[in-house]
Amino acid sequence: MSMSYCSRVQLCHNGVSHAKSLNTYMDIISRKEAKEKSLIHYFTGLPCKRGHICQRWTSGCVCVECNALFAKQWSETHKKEQHEYYKRNIEKSKEYNRKHGKKKKRQRAESYQRNKEYELEYNKQYRIKHKDRLTKHYKQKRYENRETLSDNAREYMRTSPVAQLRKICQRTAKRLSVGEISESKFKLLLYTPKEFQDHILKDTKFSSLRGAWDNGYHIDHIVPLKYITNNITNKELAFQLAMDKENLRLIAGKINLQKFDSVKSEITQKTLRYLLLKYGLTFD
Ligand SMILES: [Zn+2]
Repeated sequence: MSMSYCSRVQLCHNGVSHAKSLNTYMDIISRKEAKEKSLIHYFTGLPCKRGHICQRWTSGCVCVECNALFAKQWSETHKKEQHEYYKRNIEKSKEYNRKHGKKKKRQRAESYQRNKEYELEYNKQYRIKHKDRLTKHYKQKRYENRETLSDNAREYMRTSPVAQLRKICQRTAKRLSVGEISESKFKLLLYTPKEFQDHILKDTKFSSLRGAWDNGYHIDHIVPLKYITNNITNKELAFQLAMDKENLRLIAGKINLQKFDSVKSEITQKTLRYLLLKYGLTFD
């Protein structure tokens, strides 16, 4: 049997700090000592009979890796039985959840807060390790729930102020880029398609918006639409702010999607101050 390290030991090598029970992960500590300190794990540094070098449960001496293996095997062989038991006793299980659900949820949340750093790192590693499986799983889920999802998307488009503002901004930008703009929009924006294009393309290597779009560039709102709709309920005013020339810039699509600028960033704050002054608004 070859030696293998359990995944948690690898996390330790990455220098991640652990939960109380895992703090002593790489420190040798006997079961007796662990009991005295009420730790749930101890660590001898010696391999188990299957070759895992990792912590053991103080309660039963079994190594955590073996224990996880047993649990997995058990649940695989008893899957059907468990499912049938659950179906037979569905009321019992509902009753249990009613009684203890809140407590369990709270305990889980508290445990998460205590071990946040560890959990975040653990989840990150988990996602990397199981990337392909997870991608497939979510794709399947999206397919299974496609009707609900498209309903939700429609509902979101219909009711969310930020979605509506985004839609109208996109439509306006498109019209501006081909040199058309309706009179009513011009009254709000006070710039011509030519002025729009000159502003957006200045300091870039592009001579037309089409060229920029073909190269994966987007028009970005410096003060985010979400921020605007959170603070302004008047739709016309929100549109004016969002589409103010000074709030628009051309940006590589990839960067835009990463949302590297938070509202606190210098350029956003500067633009925000400018807009507030221009439109005579106050909010923070
Ligand atoms: Zn083991």
